[in-house]
Amino acid sequence: MLQAVIICTQHLEITYLNNQAVAMFDLTAEAAIGKPITSLAAFTENKEFLHSIERLSPLTIDLEITKTDHKKIFLQCVMEKTEEGFVFFFNDVTENRKKIEELLMANAQLELFAFEASHDLQEPLRTITGFLRLLEDELNSQLNDTSRQYMNYAIDGAERMKRIIENLLEYARIGSGTENFAMVDTNEIVNGVVESLQAHIHETNTQIILQPLPSAYAVDSHMHQLFQNLISNAIKFRNKNTVPEIEIGYTENEKDFIFHVKDNGIGIDEKFFERIFHVFKRLHSKSKYPGTGIGLAICKKIIENHNGTIWIESEPGKGSCFYFTLPKK
Ligand code: ADP
Repeated sequence: MLQAVIICTQHLEITYLNNQAVAMFDLTAEAAIGKPITSLAAFTENKEFLHSIERLSPLTIDLEITKTDHKKIFLQCVMEKTEEGFVFFFNDVTENRKKIEELLMANAQLELFAFEASHDLQEPLRTITGFLRLLEDELNSQLNDTSRQYMNYAIDGAERMKRIIENLLEYARIGSGTENFAMVDTNEIVNGVVESLQAHIHETNTQIILQPLPSAYAVDSHMHQLFQNLISNAIKFRNKNTVPEIEIGYTENEKDFIFHVKDNGIGIDEKFFERIFHVFKRLHSKSKYPGTGIGLAICKKIIENHNGTIWIESEPGKGSCFYFTLPKK
């Protein structure tokens, strides 16, 4: 459908409406001209729209109206102020809206499936790991080098699968709507993470430069997880010939806090900047750098669940800087 247009005086009385507006709002031009736009049946029940018109803000509004045949349609309205009054443009976005809802539904079903599948896989895996250990104990003296090696491969494989499943479950749980948002002191969170990684930090001689951080409206456990993933990656992907240095800090603009976790590690080629945030996407073999490839996907999901964005700037050989935003509330 083409764009519907309604032109009003400064007192919001309709002076013109095009054919699309006549069809969209089930009107006749004669009946509508001279009436206030706020008195049209489509809007009288829509408090949000009436309120926006009163304040003339925001200038773009999404609204749902019920047609005379009881069908609901979704509109996007843009208001513009002119010298004589106001012009309202309406676009029917029902189809887009339906597609988005279908996609969200499909996505939610997939996540539920992943969650249930991962959950159900834990039980047989526990059985495999448990019996492998019993077998190892039982056969201990009879195992030769080759069979001991096979046994170790099997145990390693089962343990790796356990970590993947645990990470997948963590990933699936984010955004379930049960999280507690509150003001959290991100200094405390980062201090806690650094404390828990202390042994590894010490062993790798990593220098941590911790700048003062703000308090933000967030989920405490998710922030912990986020900093933990970023800082432990910064240690893991260190440059073997340089003293590892990690700086954690932030800047801010009117709307957001912009945090960064910066390292002087191996860096990443620009062509992989997108890919590393997807589940299971890794750039190195698991023998060189262990991991499940879910850590950054978890970070992205956490940040999106906080209405923020996450991205990376990096240069191979020089280091990486991960940025993420948290909206100020
Ligand atoms: P994992 O660390 O388990 O492999 P992640 O999802 O945390 O999985 O990271 C995905 C990939 O992104 C890593 O395998 C690595 O190639 C790259 N990466 C992540 N953080 C860094 C970093 N600080 N420096 C260099 N590469 C990184």
